Amino acid sequence: MKFLVTGGAGFIGSHLVRRLSSRGPVTVLDDLSSGKRENLDGLACTLLQGSILDSAPLAEACSGITHVFHLAALVSVPESVASPARCHEINVEGTRRVLAAATQAGAQRLVLASSCAVYGDEPAMPKTETSPTAPASPYAESKLAGEKLCAQSPLPAVALRFFNVYGPGQDPRGPYAAAVPRFLEAARAGTPLTIFGKGHQTRDFVYVDDVTAALEHAAFGPSLSGVYNVASGRSVSVLRLAEIVLTLTGLRSEIRHAPARAGDILHSSASIEKIRATGWNPSFDLATGLQKILAAG
Ligand code: NAD
Repeated sequence: MKFLVTGGAGFIGSHLVRRLSSRGPVTVLDDLSSGKRENLDGLACTLLQGSILDSAPLAEACSGITHVFHLAALVSVPESVASPARCHEINVEGTRRVLAAATQAGAQRLVLASSCAVYGDEPAMPKTETSPTAPASPYAESKLAGEKLCAQSPLPAVALRFFNVYGPGQDPRGPYAAAVPRFLEAARAGTPLTIFGKGHQTRDFVYVDDVTAALEHAAFGPSLSGVYNVASGRSVSVLRLAEIVLTLTGLRSEIRHAPARAGDILHSSASIEKIRATGWNPSFDLATGLQKILAAG
């Protein structure tokens, strides 16, 4: 067996590379647009620096591959709004090319990183895989289009809809950084934890090791098909997350409220029964996952 992780130098990708490297040789194809070479320091893998849109590095990366984990993407929702054509090119055309190259190379299975963003802000909760989709950004639309490409592919391909993934190595910087790394950084620095709006908005935070276990399960476990939610199955409010961060760190930063951000989804809650029925279960609750990040330093 030989594995390709596109986007393997990114946050989730580098955790996946660590997990896969005990199973067999891992190739990473990453253009390092948001990922970092340092994320792969000490990991047994071959990094090919290049874009999934370029046929030569893609063909090289797919040579002899048995399983493909397609994580490379333009991941920023605001960036997708600013550059919808670029988002479509990387996330839709890129996925089409990765599927074609993997099929051509004789790969056995492909797993696509999709997103809960495909559900949009429809009020019905929890989201099951049969809930209506209502993509509210070019990013969400591109993920839905990627799922459809997987469904039409001759190569067995499954899409996992990740909810809010958190874990060590996640970037706390940038105006749209995820809440967990932002809150942890603020608590450690003794600066206020900023919540946009009242903090009553809910999210399902899923620990990165559970996500990489789901990717591994989808590639090597029972033959999955279609789309599956990957989440903890428990949503918490952003205000509660901030309180848990302060309790666990024992630090005394204040919680400050900034104006709500336009376009932020109000509630997000996942049903994980479909993937549970195939044998995958999350292992980490929020407090345990946060403690693991704190222990990682
Ligand atoms: P990330 O930005 O850390 O990783 C994405 C990686 O893809 C980066 O290393 C980047 O350099 C690479 N990349 C981008 N364009 C590329 C291209 N054209 N060719 C080759 N490589 C390219 O983001 P992440 O959080 O690790 O996300 C990984 C995947 O999971 C993405 O597909 C994302 O949409 C999906 N996802 C993430 C979350 C989350 O909470 N982090 C939630 C839902 C879905």
